[in-house]
Amino acid sequence: MSLLRPRDVIDHVTHLTPEFLADRGLHGLLLDLDNTLVPYGSYDPVGVASTLAWVRDLKIAGVGLYLLSNATGRRAAFWLDKLEFQGVGLAGKPNPRAFRRALDELRLPPHQVGMVGDQLFTDVLGGNLSGLHTILVRPLVTNALPHTRVARRLERAVLKRYGHDWNH
Ligand SMILES: [Mg+2]
Repeated sequence: MSLLRPRDVIDHVTHLTPEFLADRGLHGLLLDLDNTLVPYGSYDPVGVASTLAWVRDLKIAGVGLYLLSNATGRRAAFWLDKLEFQGVGLAGKPNPRAFRRALDELRLPPHQVGMVGDQLFTDVLGGNLSGLHTILVRPLVTNALPHTRVARRLERAVLKRYGHDWNH
């Protein structure tokens, strides 16, 4: 199996219902922040009200949630306060170390945990290296940073080989 290949590809995190997760034997999720849960750089909780409601529903369903973000600690802390679950910034994805720590916190084995993120080279690669069920989500906004644009082009080429074609 290619380490860059996600197990599932979805359009939005709210598509991950308790039923979707139960069908795959998943009891926990590691969640990327930027462009997965919230638009890149956003500090607006009102704009992601439906995502916050989805988080509450998953928590009620008993799904373990953990934020695994490469953003600054300060930015991660701002959003952890709104999301009301545990997690870290500066996670260093795809380095498996932060993934291991997250699994320890959730007290779940890797095959029962999904890694949800919008980037192949951090979220999917790190998740696959750690034995998680990887779920690629369509990025919420197009990121204009030059290094991200290069990564996006590579991602599109890889995804096309897997039969997925997104328009941005
Ligand atoms: Mg991201």
